[in-house]
Amino acid sequence: MPERTESDSRKLLRRLRDSLAVPGRGQDRLDQITHLIADSMRTEVCSIYLFRDPETLELCATEGLKKDAVHKTRMKLGEGLVGRVAKSGLPINAADAPSEKGFRYMPETGEELFSSFLGLPIQRVGEKLGVLVVQSKTARQFSEDEIDALEVVAMVLAEMTELGAFTGDEDGMKALHKQSVMLRGTSGQEGSAEGHVWLHEPRVVVTNPVADDPLTEIDRIRDAVGQLRVSVDDLLAAESLDKEQKQVLEAYRMFAHSRGWLRRMEEDIALGLSAEAAVEKEQSATRQRLEQVPDAYLRERLHDLDDLSNRLLRILTGQGRDTGAELPENPVLVARNIGPAELLDYGRRLRGVVLEEGSVGSHAAIVARALAIPLVIHASRITQEALNGDHIMVDGDQGIVHLRPEETVARAFRDKIAMQAAAQQRYASLRGLPATAKCGTTIALHMNAGLMADLPSLEGSGAEGVGLFRTELQFLVRSKMPQRAELAALYARVMDAAKGRRVAFRTLDIGSDKVLPYMKPQDEPNPAMGWRAIRVGLDKPGILRMQSQALIRAANGRPLTVMFPLITELGEFAEARSHVLREVHREKSLGHPIPATIEIGAMMETPSLAYAPKAFFDLTDFISVGGNDLKQFFFAADRENELVRRRYDTLNLSFLGFLEQIVARCRQSDTPLSFCGEDAGRPIEALALSAIGFRSLSMRPASVGPVKALIRSVNLNEARAVIDKAREDGAETARPALMEWLATQGE
Ligand code: PEP
Ligand code: MG
Repeated sequence: MPERTESDSRKLLRRLRDSLAVPGRGQDRLDQITHLIADSMRTEVCSIYLFRDPETLELCATEGLKKDAVHKTRMKLGEGLVGRVAKSGLPINAADAPSEKGFRYMPETGEELFSSFLGLPIQRVGEKLGVLVVQSKTARQFSEDEIDALEVVAMVLAEMTELGAFTGDEDGMKALHKQSVMLRGTSGQEGSAEGHVWLHEPRVVVTNPVADDPLTEIDRIRDAVGQLRVSVDDLLAAESLDKEQKQVLEAYRMFAHSRGWLRRMEEDIALGLSAEAAVEKEQSATRQRLEQVPDAYLRERLHDLDDLSNRLLRILTGQGRDTGAELPENPVLVARNIGPAELLDYGRRLRGVVLEEGSVGSHAAIVARALAIPLVIHASRITQEALNGDHIMVDGDQGIVHLRPEETVARAFRDKIAMQAAAQQRYASLRGLPATAKCGTTIALHMNAGLMADLPSLEGSGAEGVGLFRTELQFLVRSKMPQRAELAALYARVMDAAKGRRVAFRTLDIGSDKVLPYMKPQDEPNPAMGWRAIRVGLDKPGILRMQSQALIRAANGRPLTVMFPLITELGEFAEARSHVLREVHREKSLGHPIPATIEIGAMMETPSLAYAPKAFFDLTDFISVGGNDLKQFFFAADRENELVRRRYDTLNLSFLGFLEQIVARCRQSDTPLSFCGEDAGRPIEALALSAIGFRSLSMRPASVGPVKALIRSVNLNEARAVIDKAREDGAETARPALMEWLATQGE
């Protein structure tokens, strides 16, 4: 067999491109392409299989197999040699295909006549599109050169598929990015939204996968890589970087300067690809490796390489984030992941957010919650499926996303949004009224906050004040440790916005899932039970003191409320409290105004604290139950772990009994008590908490209305009796009994 040369390869690519330029049916093009490839590769067979749906491949064109099999032969992902190529994303090169593991005989194709088989994935930056196969009668292995040439062809086919060159008229094969898709993820923030996709990292569209002149393309890629290197060097030269950030960027720089990377791209160009297509081919290979590397460090580095490829594509095409494109109407942000600061930049302009990665406790989720934007996380494939401007519906309650929905789905979804809006109006009419139950007991409803962006909700929600201000958010959205003056100005603005209403500032709660980008992460085996919250505050009192000073200065003579996260024993509270008081004295001695009154409280987030000595309850000015953490430690169920986080019910009677003990101890010592975990914002849970004696609840602003409406409609003594009866009856949880009872209650 004569050697294939670079010019053979370029000739084939050019003929492929020309076939695209002729107007015609997608099927005619596919037929012509398989013919061209078989001819150029000197094989009897060339077939193209494309995905019909994410699990099924379909033979869409063939030269050499029986034509009757086209659009009839199908296989599942992983099934037969073709299915294996698609699943693994790796080529299979077999001299004797029928004896290969997994070979599946398909009589309708007449396939048994062919011995050698070379199958390559058709994929574009991680998106699986199909499989390209060549086969011949003589039993032989395909050479490295042939594989390289066919890989380049597969890349061009991927670009053509993406451009919609083969779709439109065939037997149910709809165009990519046109079908309606429902993706099931996880709820990150409740609420529903309808709008248009805004890709945080827009896809770069490569319209010219084949190059006429390799020399020009080589110049272009060298020039672009040169620009990329300069921009990465500039990043590294920034003065504000600490040692760790430098180390990370050094690895990044190393990739940008890698000769192997550039060489591989140049080789692909020599075979006929354009500079852009060569970058994408390398990027696809990187993504492929990413899927297979279990080591977290290596994965991170491969992510770097992926990111560099994106930058390079943006340089080459002039497309990308900074194209000045306008946000569409009702934008729904779609991204693989996003940092809290970037999300904050978009702010309330967004109607919804859909992420492929993320976690319930991630910083982005925290910000989305603060902005009350519906959020769905773990929506796999969304960045590959969605195009800018696509119609999208986000169901943050169920964690479901409808992309390009059918009209019936869209109608049902709109009904749901309308119902929610009607309920919101009903809640708005209760805004000025207290949450007084039918028995006459009033529950104080406060809101949780953490960003300036939250404060406008204080007016709108009808909350009495801020029961939990998570100060760590201000630390998390910055790239370096904020200064005291900066924090003081911010806290002052928070107090101004609260207009005299109480704001309970919680001191820095970092560690566990909340890692500051500028603090060395600890390699802890179990971070939720590790060096976090007040433990960090007491071991590094400099930060606690700086924060206390900022709060005292912000108060500027006004009342101040401070509380500490994750207090586990009396001694910790006493020590943290003394740090704050020392700062008050210091400010006073400097002649600065000190707060008119100062309340210092503890968050009860570990069961141990419920059994603390009486002195603890006497020393605290108030106690706030952090139900999210308290519940995770009570049930030993990680709040971040999808497998267990919903496993135990908050209305479990053991847990309610435990909470009642806390209520009783606070009553004995006359210590004001509130509850500020997520459960406080869930109406049934809030009702149960009120029934067992909580008189103050703090929740996300959007929950104040629903919780108030429910409390006003019931008698808490009766609810209490229902809970007690469920316990007497030996129930595990009070939920069924409460739900049954609620069903008998009128509005
Ligand atoms: C809690 O643990 O319930 C709480 C309010 O604090 P966070 O969710 O910030 O840990
Ligand atoms: Mg907590």
